[in-house]
Amino acid sequence: MNYYIAVDVGASKTRIAIANVRGILDKVVVNTPRDGDEYTISNLIIKIISGKWGQLVGNIRVIGVATIGPLDLKRGVVVNTPNLNMKRIELLKPLIDFFKTQVYVVNDCVAAAWGEKHYGDAVNVDNYVYITLSTGVGAGVVVNGELLIGKMGNAHEVGHIVVDFDSDIRCGCGGRGHWEAYAGGRNLPRVAEYLLNRGIIYSGSELAELVKKGFALDAKVVFDYYRRGDPLAKDLVDLYVKATAAGLASVINSYDPELVTIGGGVFLNNIDVLYEPIVRLISGNIVTEMPIIKPTRLGDDVGLYGALAIAVDPPRKLKEIQSSSYTRNAT
Ligand SMILES: [Zn+2]
Repeated sequence: MNYYIAVDVGASKTRIAIANVRGILDKVVVNTPRDGDEYTISNLIIKIISGKWGQLVGNIRVIGVATIGPLDLKRGVVVNTPNLNMKRIELLKPLIDFFKTQVYVVNDCVAAAWGEKHYGDAVNVDNYVYITLSTGVGAGVVVNGELLIGKMGNAHEVGHIVVDFDSDIRCGCGGRGHWEAYAGGRNLPRVAEYLLNRGIIYSGSELAELVKKGFALDAKVVFDYYRRGDPLAKDLVDLYVKATAAGLASVINSYDPELVTIGGGVFLNNIDVLYEPIVRLISGNIVTEMPIIKPTRLGDDVGLYGALAIAVDPPRKLKEIQSSSYTRNAT
């Protein structure tokens, strides 16, 4: 029997699964190492696969890896990721060297979009977008059945769409007024600081007091306080919703999808707060027909299913770019 390995290297968790064509058979979830050298993560992946499914290693046909970016697609290396304290993360070559089989490495959102086509909501859909709302904001896009890859594998960095060109809020990338500046979980402390420095008095806001004391707030804290009626949390969520509706409207106007699925921890944990107001604001800002918009039903495993889909049915463009790595190493 032939097996596939799917790996999803996330900013906080790494998921590794053994699978067949039909789906995942067994999986392991571990914390992604934050420190180390360029081989720390690939060594961990090799150790887990060998330790857990060692007797099946000879039957592994293809390994698909979905990873946080940015990615040097040709070399299968993550470069200068803002999420971990490693300058480079080597994924393609060490896995090929160890397992002596074909490996594909792609951006996690790009993979997730392909996962939707094979295992999720887009099985019979040729034009759709997958969006993640998490520590950052990203997308994977399929147009006319083709997965968009881009020259470096970083197509659809939609989190850096400018949703307010006059904004004072800085994005993690250094730009201003980007969608991710407002809606990236990682950037929420900066937005809170901006709101507090505008001169509005948030009387009775416990969250404002916490921020003033230097507490490092994250998305969970913001949404917890939002549910308790905190006025600063309300303004933060309000900006989050407006920026996300603006960003999504731009994405819909750009790609004309039939379907938009949304994943990522910030969205999936707060669908009750976010879904309805975001969809309502989009409808006034698009020139094409409104697509179906819904949370991904693959949940936290959307990247893992994406990695599996990439292994089972690698898109043509990816094959052109990465298939030669295996052949070169094998000869
Ligand atoms: Zn940016």
